[in-house]
Amino acid sequence: MLANTTSAGRPQGWIEPSSDPVRHNFFLRSLSPSDALSIEPHLRSRTLALGEVLSEQGDPVSRIHFVESGIVSSVVPMSDGHSVEACMVGNEGFTGIEACYHPGKATTRLLVQAAGASRTIDAAIFRRLIHTSDTLYAAVAEYDWRLRAEVEQSAACNAVHHVEQRLAKWLLRCHDRHENDVMQLTQEFLATMLGTQRTTVNQVARGMADDGLIRYSRGKVTVKSRAGLELMACECYSSVKATRDQRTVDSLVASAGRTGPKVA
Ligand SMILES: [Zn+2]
Repeated sequence: MLANTTSAGRPQGWIEPSSDPVRHNFFLRSLSPSDALSIEPHLRSRTLALGEVLSEQGDPVSRIHFVESGIVSSVVPMSDGHSVEACMVGNEGFTGIEACYHPGKATTRLLVQAAGASRTIDAAIFRRLIHTSDTLYAAVAEYDWRLRAEVEQSAACNAVHHVEQRLAKWLLRCHDRHENDVMQLTQEFLATMLGTQRTTVNQVARGMADDGLIRYSRGKVTVKSRAGLELMACECYSSVKATRDQRTVDSLVASAGRTGPKVA
């Protein structure tokens, strides 16, 4: 977490809640009116800066981030300096699942890979709310199950699928969470996410550029052909996307059916 504070006493990066209807988190929107009411007073809005480390592996999980925009990756660091992404959280979910049932330490490093914003709550408060509401507990457990499925799929993907397939999958997943076709992604960043060498990432990305799938220069990737990337990506992309899309549909249905105040 950021150590510096503003003149108002808040850590740098904290912002006032936004009424922008475009910014939202589908997990919060899926909650029952009573659960939304119980959480809302405890939420604080916060910016997420590109490359910011929200917490390190082994840190006590003190805050939960409901991502509204941008992308936060859970990254597993290795002792030799390498690291690889375990899962990615966008506006469909939240970070800190390991601290939702009992006080816990972070099992991964939380890295902001696309700038955005989150609404964040003290982990201990969220835990108390979870344990006093059967419906909130069920919602968190369901999210936990879907997230674990994604992590398991990612582990299998890293073990058996080629780096070309994995890079195509990863770019599509980022593209799904971006508002335009241009993504700020350095070689180093891509290598970290894929758990491979920068030279390998550069070689594969150049090949994609030569095939007209992307434009790749100066730390930016522009998607030129989603259809081409989908053809190149491994089966894991469509599998994880189906799970995420179902979560989003469930959230929209629940939100549309609510008569109480919305958290958005
Ligand atoms: Zn795969």
